[in-house]
Amino acid sequence: MDILFKVYWFLIGACVGSFLNVCILRLPKDMSIVSPSSHCPKCKTPIKWYDNIPILSFFFLMGKCRSCREKISFRYVIVEVLCAVSFLVLFIKLGYSLAFAKFAFLFCLLIVVSFIDIDYHAIPAYLCIFGIIAGLFFAFFQSGDFLYVVVDFLRAAGVSQVQGMDGANSPFFNSVVGLLFGLGFTYLFKLFGDIFISLLLIIRKKDSIEGETESLGLGDVDFMGVVGVFLGVKAVLLVFFIAPFFAIIYSVSAVLFKKSHLIPYLPYLSAATVVVYFWGNDITRIVFGS
Ligand SMILES: [Zn+2]
Repeated sequence: MDILFKVYWFLIGACVGSFLNVCILRLPKDMSIVSPSSHCPKCKTPIKWYDNIPILSFFFLMGKCRSCREKISFRYVIVEVLCAVSFLVLFIKLGYSLAFAKFAFLFCLLIVVSFIDIDYHAIPAYLCIFGIIAGLFFAFFQSGDFLYVVVDFLRAAGVSQVQGMDGANSPFFNSVVGLLFGLGFTYLFKLFGDIFISLLLIIRKKDSIEGETESLGLGDVDFMGVVGVFLGVKAVLLVFFIAPFFAIIYSVSAVLFKKSHLIPYLPYLSAATVVVYFWGNDITRIVFGS
């Protein structure tokens, strides 16, 4: 039976991935994600349900539109597989729980913002704001007792000496602190980075470096707010310092293959977030020895 549940969540993940493809394609263009139904971008022929089966249809159609033979991007399959594997792994780790819903949502958001950022070097601002609000909701329901949350905030404000129920802070309290830290820390970093770049531009008498005048985009700042809400303060720091290592891999290949040095940063932040979610505690143990 156990294997059936795993197959089930893998398939659900693939279907959700198919929906994420629609989001990635349409949200940056301000198009509805509900209508019109999926159609070939070239010949506009609506895609029949049997040609729209996640992962499999691409291979049945051998990567071409049934009517006009236009090539279908392999990226659709990548997104569907990523989402399916995410759901499967999260289900194995968390089982049926609120945490499963919470992190399945987070992983979907990571996929969407990463691929939109790859295409546009920017993301619609409401995506991360939506993520932050959803994260706060999840944390609130994870906290269970509303009173528990109130006591935390009173204690933080120095009003109340009452201890939390088990001495620890509620998930909601940790989320709010994580959010403020994620936004604040990253924004400060951006501010100093921007000043540094401005000075560099003045010295070099240039207007921009390959069209770029900012160290981090505001999208990156919002994204770190999402990380704080879902994973807390420690994760913000870890993600922030791990992401550059992923970016280096791209930068090296950019130098080797003479591609643009301009890099979309959200895919690296997302990859780092996944690493921190699964192995964050191991990393802190190895680095800080505790
Ligand atoms: Zn077509």
